[in-house]
This record gives sequence, structure tokens and C-alpha cells, in this order.
Amino acid sequence: MTIVSPQAQAVPLNPPSSGNNWQQILKEAVRDPAELCDLLNLPQHADSARRAAENFPVFVPRGFLKKIQPGDSQDPLLRQVLPLEAELQSPPGFSGDPVGDQPSALLPGLLQKYEGRVLMVTTGACAVHCRYCFRRDYPYDDSPPAPVVWQRALDRIAEDTSIQEVLLSGGDPLTVRDELLADLVKQLSRISHLRRLRIHSRLPIVIPERVTDSLLDWLSASRLTPIFVVHANHPRELDAEVLGALERLVEAGIPVLNQAVLLRGVNDRVSTLVDLCEKLIDARVFPYYLHQLDRVSGAAHFEVPVERGLELLGEIRKRLPGYAVPRYVQEQPGQLSKLPLG
Ligand SMILES: *Cc1c(COP(=O)(O)O)cnc(C)c1O
Ligand code: SF4
Repeated sequence: MTIVSPQAQAVPLNPPSSGNNWQQILKEAVRDPAELCDLLNLPQHADSARRAAENFPVFVPRGFLKKIQPGDSQDPLLRQVLPLEAELQSPPGFSGDPVGDQPSALLPGLLQKYEGRVLMVTTGACAVHCRYCFRRDYPYDDSPPAPVVWQRALDRIAEDTSIQEVLLSGGDPLTVRDELLADLVKQLSRISHLRRLRIHSRLPIVIPERVTDSLLDWLSASRLTPIFVVHANHPRELDAEVLGALERLVEAGIPVLNQAVLLRGVNDRVSTLVDLCEKLIDARVFPYYLHQLDRVSGAAHFEVPVERGLELLGEIRKRLPGYAVPRYVQEQPGQLSKLPLG
């Protein structure tokens, strides 16, 4: 297990100031499985959580915890963050790199799978550890920290005129502080063949305070067309604070999309998915992808069979306008795009 936990890495140290409240929130996130169980009144889960967390540490911002119903071990938000005994099993077909990230690395921290766009692993740190994450086994240690590696990625992008779009991903790029990101984006915007800048981040959902004025400034001031992709799986993740953060992005003129992962026990019901999509649309956020689970070791208990996924999609399509229906896709190594499932 080589993932760099935010404990060890990221959470950049910054002199405290009002706009950096989010860094304090990151520092105060729950990292101890026993504390997680204690706060949620689930003492019976503490032992198994501790064992399962040895492979992939717990990391949950306290604001996210507030949305979880204490004492309910089936809470769909809890299931995304609580390590379960089931993670220790890895049935056949589940592996450490199910989406073929390693073969697609152009450089450490720069991946290209699809034409015209590259993904920068801006940082290994996330603002929440999602138990189903396909990058839970990603060798982030091989991706040296921030600006030093970014330079090599920038040079490589500048050399290749076929690249039109850069995705900042990770980890979660928004665990990096705004001054560094603003500088990175400035350098990207100097590369004349680049047209678009995409940010993939779960931060507006788990720490809405992260959508600061300075973030909006560097994002909307760039010459590059911005696209912001957030990640929410369940309608209850979208409380008033999160909706406020999404509104700040939208009001700044930034197109916002959502990607979700189809997860057993979290969102594998028609009513849940419909509610999620409607809440997103009301917030002027477009459902983009509904991902079939990537078969990463430790996440087998989240898998929903594709046939069931297709059934769910068929049902939500009957209930929602076309623009509110996400594309149901699967990532398969070696493919030239994410594979549409139906
Ligand atoms: C998912 C992914 C993208 C983005 O794919 P889109 O279909 O454009 O959203 C780009 N690069 C990599 C490496 C990816 O995994
Ligand atoms: S799903 Fe996204 S936010 Fe969650 S652990 Fe994985 S990379 Fe981080």
C-alpha cells in the first residue's frame, strides 16, 4: 500500500487567514477509525474499521460527518468513508490498477489515455478517502510533490501540440493551495495549443469552504475554457453549504458537471439516482458520468452488476429529461474512451 496519506503529505502549511479556513478543516479531519466509530455511535464497528484502515487510512472532514445519521451503519454517506472488514477480501478480477493507469503514464504524474487530453496527478492527497476509490492503490510516492514535477509535465505538454485539454486531478487538485494552482494555471495558459482546463475535485462536496474567492479568480481569469467536474454520489451530500459552493462556481460562469460512481448500498436505487440528478440540475450542475465501479482490490462489496446498472438507467431515463441523465460508462484499460454501457 503506497498511497500517501494527507497526514504525511499535502495539507500545505499556510499562514492562517480568513480565505484559508479550508486548510484548517483539512487538518482537523477525522483520521482515526476508532474516533470515526465513536463520533457516529457505532462502537461495534471500531475493530474491523481499524483492521481495514491499515490498507487505506481513514480520512473524513468533520462537515461530511455531520450529514451522517449516528447509529445507522447503513447510512449511504457513512458507507463511502467507513472501512469494512469486506475490504480485506479481494475476489478474482479485482486488482491494484484496474484502469491501467500505470501503462498510460507519460511521465510520473502525467497520464494520457485519450486523444487531445492529458491528466495531471496534481497531488496524491484527497480531502476524503472514498473506500471504493480506484486510485486507493495508486503509487502516489512515485509522483513527487507539486511544482518540481509539474514543470516536467508542463514541458511535455508544451512539446505536444495535439494536447488541447489538461485535467487537473489526483488525488484531489484542490487540496493544493490557490497560489500554487494560480501559478500552474498561468503557466498552462501560456501554452498556445491548450484550449481547455478541467478540474476534477470532490472538495466542493466535502469541504464547500474550499470554493474561495481566490479559487474563482484564478479559474475564471484564465484564457483557458474552464470545466469543473465535482463528485457526489448521493443526494444527501448536497446540503445547503454544498449547494452554496456550487452556486458560487456557476455564478462565476464556470460550467459544472458531476460524476458519480454506482455503488451498492449507496445509490443503487432509482429514487436515489433520480433525486441526485434532480438536485444537481436544480443547482445548474449537469450529471456527466455514472461510472461502473472500477474493480480495485478492496472495493468488491460496492459492485453493482452491469445488468442492474442498465436497469436503473432505463428507469431514470423514463423519469428525467435527457439532459439530466448521466452517461453510464465503464473504464477499460486500453480503450480510446470511457466505454458507454447504455
Ligand atoms: C477519465 C479520464 C479522462 C477524461 O475522460 P473524458 O471522457 O474526457 O471525461 C482523461 N484522461 C484520463 C487519463 C482519464 O482517466
Ligand atoms: S474518489 Fe476522488 S476524492 Fe475519493 S479518494 Fe478517490 S481520488 Fe480521492
